[in-house]
Amino acid sequence: MKGIVSFLMLLVFFVLFCGSMYAQNEKRVVAVTFDDLPFVNHLKFSPQDQKERTLKLLKVFENFSIPAVGFVNEYKLFVNDSLKNDRLSLLNLWISNNLELGNHTFSHPSLNKVSAEEYKTDILKGEKITKPLLAGKGKNIRYFRYPYLQKGNEEIKKKEIENYLLNLGYINAPVTLDNSDWVFARAYDNAIEENDSVKMKMLGENYIKYMNTVFEYFENQSKLIFNREIKQILLLHANAINSDYFDELCIMIKNRNYNFISLEEALTDPVYDLEETYVGNWGFSWINRWAITQGRGKEFYKDEPEPSEEIFKLAGINY
Ligand SMILES: [Zn+2]
Repeated sequence: MKGIVSFLMLLVFFVLFCGSMYAQNEKRVVAVTFDDLPFVNHLKFSPQDQKERTLKLLKVFENFSIPAVGFVNEYKLFVNDSLKNDRLSLLNLWISNNLELGNHTFSHPSLNKVSAEEYKTDILKGEKITKPLLAGKGKNIRYFRYPYLQKGNEEIKKKEIENYLLNLGYINAPVTLDNSDWVFARAYDNAIEENDSVKMKMLGENYIKYMNTVFEYFENQSKLIFNREIKQILLLHANAINSDYFDELCIMIKNRNYNFISLEEALTDPVYDLEETYVGNWGFSWINRWAITQGRGKEFYKDEPEPSEEIFKLAGINY
């Protein structure tokens, strides 16, 4: 009898050991999303520049087999109410590379600052061109991304928009790996304008280092509230620094033992079915939203990585 008990205990230890080995070797997964299409700071770059930079970005998706989703602000397609074909053609480049597009509202308003009615109008206006573009490829427009990741500072407004999106058939696209790529991007755009290749390189290298800390941070935060690493969703922007450094960023992500997955696959993680009850001004990672919902305070996210003061300064943003 004693022998059987010992054998069973040994078996249990063996299974647990194998389980932990598996957990260590298991690949992390991340879905990649790009906001503010067709291109960030679109007034500063020539149509040819934007096209070349978009193609550069798409090449990286291809090289790393990344099924990215791009979120569009259709206001950028117009000048004085007339549709600009060169900008529209950028969206066609995404679609013809088999990438999916989503709605990021027409004019990128903050739900904290406009009424629910105004926001609804902007959602509908934001799909006018993208929807038929996707339909032409036999695809639906499925995803919606809140500008600034802000879901409203009033409970009623938050719920109203959630229901409105649901009725339109939209799936919310949360973000877990939130970051300040946009700060580096502004500094980088300034360096491009100054024709300062040394500064551009410095910013690019610091950007990759910063993003490494962002990944490490949210991997740990995920373990803190869920005891495991969830299927992450990364937010980036269709900007110049990413067109030049997204390939290096992908290498960094691969070195952290990640596989790239689709947004659809990421959303199969049960965490995305969890309720998040945060109501307030902040636009931040869903990991923070879930932490607050669990009753955790601001302490939980006080160490979120930020770009340095110098980067903010180069971006022309008050730190
Ligand atoms: Zn945005």
